[in-house]
Parts: sequence; C-alpha cells; structure tokens
Amino acid sequence: MPLLKNISTLYVCPDDGDQSDVHPVHDAVISWKDGIIEWVGPKSEFPGREDDYDVLNAGGRIVIPGLVDCHTHLAFGGWRPDEFEMRVQGKSYLEISRSGGGILSTVRETRSIHENELYEKTAGLLDKINRSGTTTIECKSGYGLSLKDEIKTLRVYDRLRYNKTAHIISTFLGAHTIPPEFQDNRKSYISLLTDDIIPRVGEEKLAKFCDVFVEESAFTVDEARHILEAGKRYGLQPKVHADQLTSCGGAELAAETGAISADHLEKVSDLGIKKMADAGVIAVTLPFASLYTQESFLDCRKLMDGGVRVAVATDFNPGSAPCYDMPLAMMLACNQSRLTPAQALKGATIYGAKAIGMENSTGSLEKGKSADFLVIDAPSVNFWMYQFAPDRKMEVFLKGECIQS
Ligand SMILES: [Zn+2]
Repeated sequence: MPLLKNISTLYVCPDDGDQSDVHPVHDAVISWKDGIIEWVGPKSEFPGREDDYDVLNAGGRIVIPGLVDCHTHLAFGGWRPDEFEMRVQGKSYLEISRSGGGILSTVRETRSIHENELYEKTAGLLDKINRSGTTTIECKSGYGLSLKDEIKTLRVYDRLRYNKTAHIISTFLGAHTIPPEFQDNRKSYISLLTDDIIPRVGEEKLAKFCDVFVEESAFTVDEARHILEAGKRYGLQPKVHADQLTSCGGAELAAETGAISADHLEKVSDLGIKKMADAGVIAVTLPFASLYTQESFLDCRKLMDGGVRVAVATDFNPGSAPCYDMPLAMMLACNQSRLTPAQALKGATIYGAKAIGMENSTGSLEKGKSADFLVIDAPSVNFWMYQFAPDRKMEVFLKGECIQS
C-alpha cells in the first residue's frame, strides 16, 4: 500500500465550510489502496506503521486535489487563429459569428473529419492537459449539430475513458448554435434535438448532462427550457451557458430547471444570483473566455456574497478560449474575478466536481475518494498562484498512479 509523507501542507478542500475553507493540514501524510484514499491527516496522528507501506517522499512540497475542469469543448476539428487576429483588431464575437465565422467554421471542420481522426486529436490534447494538473474533465459535444456528428463526438469521449488519463464526464450540447442548414427553420432543428438526437443520446447513455447556449445569438430562454425538459425526460441533467454577452435570464432558467450549474454569467442579474443561491446552482467562471473576447470578467465575489459557490474552469474551445491550463485560469480568477488563491483552489477542485456531479468520488482528499492529487513544488497555494510559473514541477496522480512527473 502506498503512503506519501513529508508533505509540508496538504489542502483537503472539503465541501463543508465556505469557499475559503480549504482545510490545510501541515506535515501531512496520505495513504491509499487500489486507487482509493485510505487515510489523510497530520503525520503525528497516522495510525499505521511506515514499514507496512511503500513509502513515497513529497520532499516538503504541497499536495492539493487533482484539478477538475468542469467546462470544456474538447473535441473539435481545426483551429481558428485568423479569428483571434480579427478579435484583436476589434471585431466583436457577435460580429464574427454573424459573418459566418465563429462556431460554424468549427462545425464545418468537425463534420468533415472521421471519428478516428477526431479521437487521435482529442487524445493528444488530453495528454497535454493532464500535465497541467487536470485529473477530471467535462467534455461537451456541440460542433457536430447533426445526429451523426453529435453521436460521433460523444463516442470519442467514451473511447477516451479507456486511456485512463482522466475521469471524463460527457455533456450533450446540440443546442450550441443553429446549424447552417436550419438557419431559416430553427423550429425544425429544435425538434430534431428534442425528438431524435436527445432520445438517442439518452438511450445509449452517451452523456450525463444536457447543456444549452442561452444567448441572443443562440437560443432563447423558452427554446432552452423546452430542450432542457426533453433532456430531463431521457435522464440528462440540465446545464446552462448563461448571461455571457447579454443579461437574458439564463441564470434564472438554470434555477427553474434544476440545472447543476450555470456557466459564464458575466452579465448575470441580481435576481439571477438570488435564484441560483436559493436553488443551489453552482456558478462556473471561465476567465479565458473573458480574456480572449476582451469582455469583462465575472465578479465572483458578488456571487459568493450572494450565497453562490463558484467553480473555475477553462471553457477550452478553438474560438473564445483556446487554452486548457487550469492553474492559469485559477490565477486569472484571482487577479480579475477577485477570488483569493484558496477560493480559486476550492473552485477548481470540490466545487468543480459538484458542477459535474462528481463530488462523491473526487475533488477533495478524503477517505473513500479516488486518490487524485498533485504534488506541487511551491511552499503554499498563495505562493503557487502569486508566482505563476508554467515550468513549475508538478507530479500528477490519478487513482493512486503517478501519470505525469
Ligand atoms: Zn462553453
């Protein structure tokens, strides 16, 4: 049985307490068996004998739970570097999407490649993503927008589970945008989603969640409600892309439909915050999307003051957030969205896990959970976030196995 000792500080990150309460344990040890945590706590209270264990030495470094990226669009064809240049020149996201760029260009590329090619590209990305500490990742479809291509994307995520490089949670996002062949007939596309694709995704158990992009340029609140209710009938729990560019009632809809999370929220209303708090909806802040679109960052402190828990994720996608580095997203959430390093840590671990229904198996370092953790060469989480260094040494453990060092 492995035992990791000589940990200067281990951050438990339990669900209880408020967003700041990461429960640091000094001079800690952690032991696990068959990939499941057996014991965590101060060395002085460890009940076992070291001789009975395979002892590993953390060398005085810190240990945190494996990071949970609870919002990505991981599988897609192509990239969009030209659009990056357009945005830098001052073209808005809405202008780019209205001129035929944006999501639709990725839809064309994703439809044009074979499932195996999409799988190879996505597996390669996931391998790099692990290196920055992500051990659990939510992956959305939404660049296929047809029965065949949405199923193709979700099958890629299913296949990735066998690589054992991360816990993978799939989300169906057929309601990402209206595909070109339905531009003049959006009702028919929504019927295709609710009557054909969602039943198939539910029956084949290809996704755990159903997400809708609620926005002026995408789906209205009424359309989203109809799609999310269809998802629920097939066992898919709601998630919402809400209030990113305009305040259009996405947060309120998330609360009304029992969504597990509402993501983006830069333009959320005060009523939306109150309804999310009352319904226990997790907010997900996506700092890269604000950075790359030159839009305002979410004021996370306002949400926390309103009683909402805030998760931090990357929104990794080829348009508005082509970066998958969770520690960098956390550092931006500190600098731009007013989270303390401890609050960002809890947002990137246990609250991220809650945003995808994984809090019983990962997201904190507690007995009975998967031994997913990072050994980081920093004296504290404050220092790690403050002196951001992309080359900082980090060991990544997934289910008790060191998968990156
Ligand atoms: Zn997104």
